Amino acid sequence: MKMKYKLLAGLLLLSFFAMAQEFQYNYNFFTNSAMNGNFFFSKTTSSGNSFINNIENKLPVSETTFHTPGNALQLQYKNGANGNWQAIIFCKRIRGVDYFKTANYLSFWVFDSSSISSKGLPAVRLMKKDSSLTSSINIPSIKKYQWQQIIINTDSIKNFDKNKLTNNIAIVFSQQNNDGEQHTIFIDDIEFINKNNSPSINSTPEIIDAKGAAMHVDITWKKVTDTNIRFIKIYRSENGNDFKAVGIQQTFINRYADFTGESNKKYFYKIVFINNDYKESNLSSIATASTKTMTDDELLTMVQESSFHYYWDGAETHSGLTKEDIPGRQNMIAAGASGFGIMALIVGTERKFITHEEAVGRFIKIVNFLEHAEKFHGAFPHFIDGETGKVIPFFGKRDNGADLVETSFLMEGLLTARQYFSGDNEQEKMIRDKITTMWNNVEWSWFKINSDSKFLYWHWSPDKAWVIHHNLIGWNETMITYLLAIASPTHGVAASMYYSGWANQDSTGQKYRAAWSSTKDGSMYTNGNTYFGIKLAVGVSDGGPLFFTHYSYMGFDPHFINDKYANYFTNNQNIAKINYNYCVQNPKHYKGYGDNAWGLTASDGPFDYSADEPVLWEDHGKIAPTGAISSFPYTPEESMKALKNYYYNYGKFLWGEYGFKDAFDLTNNWCSEIYMGLNQAPITVMIENYRSGLIWKLFMSNADIKNGLQKLNDETNSKK
Ligand code: CA
Repeated sequence: MKMKYKLLAGLLLLSFFAMAQEFQYNYNFFTNSAMNGNFFFSKTTSSGNSFINNIENKLPVSETTFHTPGNALQLQYKNGANGNWQAIIFCKRIRGVDYFKTANYLSFWVFDSSSISSKGLPAVRLMKKDSSLTSSINIPSIKKYQWQQIIINTDSIKNFDKNKLTNNIAIVFSQQNNDGEQHTIFIDDIEFINKNNSPSINSTPEIIDAKGAAMHVDITWKKVTDTNIRFIKIYRSENGNDFKAVGIQQTFINRYADFTGESNKKYFYKIVFINNDYKESNLSSIATASTKTMTDDELLTMVQESSFHYYWDGAETHSGLTKEDIPGRQNMIAAGASGFGIMALIVGTERKFITHEEAVGRFIKIVNFLEHAEKFHGAFPHFIDGETGKVIPFFGKRDNGADLVETSFLMEGLLTARQYFSGDNEQEKMIRDKITTMWNNVEWSWFKINSDSKFLYWHWSPDKAWVIHHNLIGWNETMITYLLAIASPTHGVAASMYYSGWANQDSTGQKYRAAWSSTKDGSMYTNGNTYFGIKLAVGVSDGGPLFFTHYSYMGFDPHFINDKYANYFTNNQNIAKINYNYCVQNPKHYKGYGDNAWGLTASDGPFDYSADEPVLWEDHGKIAPTGAISSFPYTPEESMKALKNYYYNYGKFLWGEYGFKDAFDLTNNWCSEIYMGLNQAPITVMIENYRSGLIWKLFMSNADIKNGLQKLNDETNSKK
């Protein structure tokens, strides 16, 4: 017995340790291009009488010849007698995708469609950050008309940075010999792998559900735990016999949205596991589903439900809370996005995407986790390790403590949940009590630094104190922080801080606003200018990015927020309309902007994450669907027009398992491959606020919030 116990304890310890490790990705240069046409993360050049086929100096994407569905890269080139050609494929860096398997081998797949001799094959090198190249890798002779894997031991590559994988920024194909011939090959699945053979998968995948929507089918399957599985591959048929591969999915996601672009059509699906050698397991049994015409109401529910799943089955495993982005770090929780996710979960419960019982189970997990998570003067850090509950200084060493703004967004969600779980039973009472304790423990007043401070401060570090020293000054996304600090029944601040801090009008406030906006418009907090015929009472620049009108107002109903200068429903509505009008006018002539594609805000982008605004110097050509759609309460008609355009016309690249991808840029032929925790939930929640006011009503029914608003109103009246 003793031995058995010991063994069991050992196993438990082992599995616990294994769970603590972050998910390791393959370091990857290419699997699929998000867009047809050309591949954004590539660059071609040629000289002399050599040539490489290109579309705007980028590699063409093939949708007909591929190894993994839906596409591969086409290399059609001529090895000129005098000249050279080159194709560079860059590794696209994704936030939080930073833990990688050891790169023992470089692997890629080649398809030869021109009966190439070994002399005609390209040279292959890796490019480092400083643009230096590794030694050339020899491709062995390849068989024609079939996909063939090329595996190179990385120890044979000179100048290769095996220990700092991210230093290898690109893979370069170029002319090797001058045979004077033209050749066409296809390349797919370029990545580093740690083993050159992989056990075959003996398990059989199981489809749980296939559900037809307007122009896509959602397929879900039993969660995958076998680490030998590389992808889930999806096959579709229109007649039940001829199946073709339509997509692949990562193992940590158990759903796939197959956008077919047609309504009222029946489809048959099978899925299969593929291992690290891309060998297939047994096929699942067949599932069927039909797409259907949807009313506007059904369409809204469909969009709400897909985004909801980011927070339901896409949640961090241990805590049930929200990841920063997907794909991204698997065990890292973002506090603010978790608050938004909590509100999305409540919408999902009320819309019956999940049962009330399931929601209670999830919220017990959430409050138990948060109760023990690391806090600083009651405030949460920006990023939390889902396994340990400790702070993760993801944005740098100084950001290793409290984040008061993220705490505000989290509290916005938690306070909504406290009102929602009103059941007279032990479980729901426990949820309410634990939220009340966390709410009462946030020391808002401590974040003033000094007792006579005009401002609240954003961060505090346990070893570096107030080193970041970022004072909270509006107009931006942080109004909720002042409103909650004023409303706190235990560590509240005076309502006068709303005017001294948030709406500060002295030189500190003026300089702060002018610095981030690069304009003096709105530097007094008040604005007063007219943009596109719309007078803006409050707002920096001509309103700023649209998330300013979303984050604080998912719970806090802006209809009820009034100060000396504005009503914030009207003001938010005006900011949304200015943003809309700017995109319709489209002064920088970006492709795709218009009355059905608008809403500049913070999102992923082709070059980096950025907070775009309707001004020339902050308009970079990318549109984030969350911009227009999360503005539904302010601009229902304009938001609906954008939603329909994004889904019906761009769904093939823009729609996925968690709804709309984060952003797209048609000028650059780019679409984001991620979903962001901060951007999906506002879609679900703000559509709901437009439809029923659910989250607004719940949050505003809180007595502390009512008291806080009364204090602000009294303060405003005393200033009149
Ligand atoms: Ca592919």
